[in-house]
Amino acid sequence: MFTDASPCDNGEVRTADGTKILLSINVNDPADLDSVEPVTTAGVGLMRSEFAVSSVAEAASEEKQIVIYRHVLKWAAGKPVTIRMLDIGGDKPLAGLSVPPGGPATDLRGIRLLLAHPEIARVQARALLRAAVHGDLRVTLPMVTFPSEINEMRSIFREEAERLSSRGMPHPIPPIGMMVEVPAAALMLDTFETADFFSLGTNDLTQQLAASTRDGANSMTFHRAAIPALFRFLEGAMRLAAKGGKPVSICGNIAGDPQWLPGLLAIGLRHFSVAPVQLPAIRSAIVGLRADGTKAAGD
Ligand code: PEP
Ligand code: MG
Repeated sequence: MFTDASPCDNGEVRTADGTKILLSINVNDPADLDSVEPVTTAGVGLMRSEFAVSSVAEAASEEKQIVIYRHVLKWAAGKPVTIRMLDIGGDKPLAGLSVPPGGPATDLRGIRLLLAHPEIARVQARALLRAAVHGDLRVTLPMVTFPSEINEMRSIFREEAERLSSRGMPHPIPPIGMMVEVPAAALMLDTFETADFFSLGTNDLTQQLAASTRDGANSMTFHRAAIPALFRFLEGAMRLAAKGGKPVSICGNIAGDPQWLPGLLAIGLRHFSVAPVQLPAIRSAIVGLRADGTKAAGD
């Protein structure tokens, strides 16, 4: 909950040696925003739209989706808002949509499921295009594995934008980026020329690297044991992303846990998107560290 003691720094925090770090928030339920003041954040780094759209009927309603996206964009009052297209399938079902059963490594999840169901993707693309006039919208794509998937989704946006234009409603296409949460994509990041930005999704990446589901009885143990492998992986992904000079942020759960902050700073991350409740802890951890992740003198 926002109080007068919450920093009104617009999510711009300096490390002890003066490097600017951006702190955005992850949003599941848009109602969560009621207890967050925009002046405490740099914007919304990840809105998981699958939590706002709970059934096929809702996914088919352009008007319902516009209301939700507009609410988030208006809350942000001009700050960047990254909305992720529906990440459904596998361990993220959508009521009314029959998809093959499977864990996180299912064949039909995220962008693949959207491309397999263009009727769902097109409604969401139109809703996003129409909502974009209310703020600084960016769109991110879930579970991308191959560059062709981005190109296919871009075509859908282009066609829907043209359709709106022909009805006298010109809508520019927002920047389109991708979640980096599938190992095959993370290893080939320099080939994703058509992605406008990258968001590191360490929750899925860890599951895939550790061959362990999100909710399994022993998953915490396996995920923790895989952290060194995850860091090695992220380091490589950061190097590849730097080649293209594209913005990179991190929005998986480790971004909001201060114990991993030194390592994440050390590999070059400068934009963290975290659950609103994690903002205070991560903010105070940043000011005690240098940009290379080492502790500031005196701590
Ligand atoms: C992730 O995988 O790190 C992520 C942010 O996406 P989600 O947790 O919604 O799968
Ligand atoms: Mg994910």
